[in-house]
Amino acid sequence: MEIQTLWQNIVSSLGKKISSPLLSSWLYSIKIESFENDSLTLAVPNIFVKEWLEKKINKDLIQVAQTLLPSLKEIKYTISKEKMQRAPQKEEALDQQFLDLAWQRSAGLNPKYTFENFVVGEFNQLAHACAQAVVKSWQKGLLPPYNPLFIYSKVGLGKTHLLEAIGNELIKTKKLKVRYIPCPTFTNKIIASIREGRTNELIEEFQEFSILIIDDIEFIAGKERTQDIFFQIFNNAIEKDKQIILSSDRPPKAIKGIEERIRSRFEGGMIADINMPSYEERIAILELKLKERGKNLPSDIIEFLGREIKTNIRELEGGLIKALIIFEHEKSSQKTIKRLTEILKTSEKKVSPDKILEIVGEFYGFSKEDLLCQRREKNLVLARQIAMYLLRKKLSLSLPEIGVRLGNKDHTTVKYACEKIEENLKKDVNFRKEIEAVEERIESFY
Ligand code: ADP
Ligand code: MG
Repeated sequence: MEIQTLWQNIVSSLGKKISSPLLSSWLYSIKIESFENDSLTLAVPNIFVKEWLEKKINKDLIQVAQTLLPSLKEIKYTISKEKMQRAPQKEEALDQQFLDLAWQRSAGLNPKYTFENFVVGEFNQLAHACAQAVVKSWQKGLLPPYNPLFIYSKVGLGKTHLLEAIGNELIKTKKLKVRYIPCPTFTNKIIASIREGRTNELIEEFQEFSILIIDDIEFIAGKERTQDIFFQIFNNAIEKDKQIILSSDRPPKAIKGIEERIRSRFEGGMIADINMPSYEERIAILELKLKERGKNLPSDIIEFLGREIKTNIRELEGGLIKALIIFEHEKSSQKTIKRLTEILKTSEKKVSPDKILEIVGEFYGFSKEDLLCQRREKNLVLARQIAMYLLRKKLSLSLPEIGVRLGNKDHTTVKYACEKIEENLKKDVNFRKEIEAVEERIESFY
């Protein structure tokens, strides 16, 4: 095989592990310099790329390359002289862009969430100002202005967008080490590390970052061992003046099942909420989203969407996409608004039973399979009963059907579960809040 073809093959096998097409097109441009004595040498354009390859994908790369070159033992990276000599400015800028992208991806960030495409209004002013304060402090090399920064809101109001915008901005402007991680992924990592007896390694791994962003921290509730490890990671970071940024669907005092010492740590930082945008703010958001897509819509359609969709920004965006499709077809505002009215009215509950099981499971730290099995630990039984209740309430499934969906349970078991949950809801305000949070999650999938 010709040597450069070999590299093309390696990159395309690696492709599965690299999600960005831009990034892999960049990898394709790397040249193999030599393959001697079981060592492959790659010529890379600059020191950043070299570091990125060494630190981030060296292991994967060796593994993939070994399938084509079984004798391979190591990969070395040299900075290509040829490229350096004639590096035109434009290409360098492009390299930098690829590189930012590579860092953003490897930090777990989605580059599409930026401050530039984040609309600021009264509804999110405080959260935005806090996010900016964090960015500015780090850009000036100052200490974290507050630790942690804790942002909360109902679903679809921009927490993830804002958190990731902070990370993306600090990578682009300061090349800081950022790690963004959704809490369910984080807790899974902790649980795996406990199982494999390498919690210390994990704690160490999380010391590497200057900025640690954990999204939807409420998922840590009810998981004691996980909270222990989290607490250590959290304290290490705060002691070393690293920045912690958290989001949640509730303020700390409303998160049930977290240790008091953790709650008080959360409350020791800055807490900012995001509300629902007003009509004018919704219009501003719609206009920005149109501009981003390079599209236009007559103002009566935009006003219709702004007036009718009052749930959250994610749904506002969903409505806009529908409007664009319908308008392209109908070419008339009136007809488009008529269709949209029908769609919004019958806003069919499209969430599937499986999705409900997944959401309930995730909320309580179980897999869908756990819910279906026969195990009877207390927490699992409760989660299972909640799933039954919500399948009934949200999808009006029959009792026997719910039984079948939950691993062939008897319909009387389902009936008992629904009644018991209803009873608890009447008695216990906190339980009601908890179930509302789960329902809200389910509704965000409608
Ligand atoms: P959350 O994490 O609170 O559930 P997301 O951050 O996922 O919400 O936001 C849902 C959608 O709404 C995303 O597509 C996001 O880009 C968009 N969005 C939220 N807030 C804003 C904003 N202020 N300006 C522009 N888009 C926003
Ligand atoms: Mg989110």
